[in-house]
Amino acid sequence: MKWRIEDTPERAAFRSEFIEWLSTVLPDGWVEAVENGDDEALGAIKKGWNWMGWTSVIGASGFGAPLWPREYGGLSGESWMQQITREELQRFRLPLFSINILGVGLAGPTIVEHGTDAQRARYLKKILTAEEVWCQLFSEPGSGSDLASVSTRAERDGDEWVVNGQKVWTSIGQFAQFGMLLARTDPSKPKHEGLSYFIVDMKSPGVEVRPLRQMTGSAEFNEVFFDNVRIPDENRVGEIGQGWRVARTTLMNERVTLSGLSIDPASMMGGVKKDPWSEWVGSFRDTSDPVIRQKIAQYYSVQELKEVTAFRALSARLRGDQPGPEGSVNKVMNAEFQQRRTSFAVNAAGPNGVAWVSGDQDAERRATAFLRARANTIEGGTSEVLRNQIAERILGLPRDVAVDKDVAWQEVVRN
Ligand SMILES: Cc1cc2nc3c(=O)[nH]c(=O)nc-3n(C[C@H](O)[C@H](O)[C@H](O)COP(=O)(O)OP(=O)(O)OC[C@H]3O[C@@H](n4cnc5c(N)ncnc54)[C@H](O)[C@@H]3O)c2cc1C
Repeated sequence: MKWRIEDTPERAAFRSEFIEWLSTVLPDGWVEAVENGDDEALGAIKKGWNWMGWTSVIGASGFGAPLWPREYGGLSGESWMQQITREELQRFRLPLFSINILGVGLAGPTIVEHGTDAQRARYLKKILTAEEVWCQLFSEPGSGSDLASVSTRAERDGDEWVVNGQKVWTSIGQFAQFGMLLARTDPSKPKHEGLSYFIVDMKSPGVEVRPLRQMTGSAEFNEVFFDNVRIPDENRVGEIGQGWRVARTTLMNERVTLSGLSIDPASMMGGVKKDPWSEWVGSFRDTSDPVIRQKIAQYYSVQELKEVTAFRALSARLRGDQPGPEGSVNKVMNAEFQQRRTSFAVNAAGPNGVAWVSGDQDAERRATAFLRARANTIEGGTSEVLRNQIAERILGLPRDVAVDKDVAWQEVVRN
């Protein structure tokens, strides 16, 4: 990786400390194999390695979330520490996120910022070790981009809230113990003001999770139905009616997580492989074709641009800025790059791009990557909506029309 933060003596010491720790917890020879560029040796060591077990090792070490307070499983550290751990995880071919990507990337930072001490003590450490997996219960059949219009209703009943409604697109909901729920607590207020944010136990009576199968063949996300689900008030995050404010923290972190701070997308989730791009290029039918060569050069240039853009966002964070609209720039760029690149890889592979001998895992992975990339410009905010945000918040263009902004939610006509 060319774009790296400068190592001051303090940063270099932290980097060494982290590498030293890695060498004590990884199987013998792993660190040396990477340092020596010995892919074959690394491949042999990694065989049978339990990366789920790795999640609890790094989760319990503090290095899994350097920014979180020390008493809740982090290092009470600074942004540069997070960047250094990510750089080294990537270099040592370790997963940057566990199966609990939504817990570590979204729920955790939200609870750190808006949760009570009791909530922080109860949930944060188990998020880091993936002992409790989380999902995000925001989108609904009628509310995605216009998220503040959600209809799922939470009504107060003594010390509890009673929830009714439906969510959709809930990634890993079928495996999750807890969900971040955005629900309407006051329909008489305009849409942004009548929302509250809850932690919901996915095993509560009345929660029904129905997996949805995608064109990749896997069922990554679900429909979730709430039928008189009871949530204790102590599970509310933030004040009643302040749910939008809390949700924005989740959304900002989502963009940062999905845009992956100058991170190769192949290594985001449990992927301990190298970026498959060079393998794909190796499998192209004719790399002497000038059109193919030109495309490869273009992807190389955009990859570099992406790195620089992500580095700019990182620099802002190192100055102490919170994740801001620049996360949208990275997210749009990454998503569209991933779609174009996988699409090109399938085309340039010729017939092998769409039909292969059973068991040809490289061809299968390439096709799956192409199909999965369709979701990149939708998940975590669509590219169109993120472009609106870039236009408004970075370029200072006029705001998108919002006719229902100051109207009571219950007065707005919807289907
Ligand atoms: C793989 C995947 C995983 C997901 N996981 C989760 C999850 O775990 N939890 C969760 O809550 N959600 C999840 N989502 C949902 C995701 O956040 C929504 O799909 C997304 O916000 C878009 O909402 P929508 O699907 O309702 O589309 P709509 O909002 O109905 O949009 C339809 C089209 O209209 C365009 N559009 C809408 N508004 C505007 C506008 N103002 N200006 C210009 N164009 C506009 C959109 O860009 C889009 O092309 C996931 C989605 C995917 C694909």
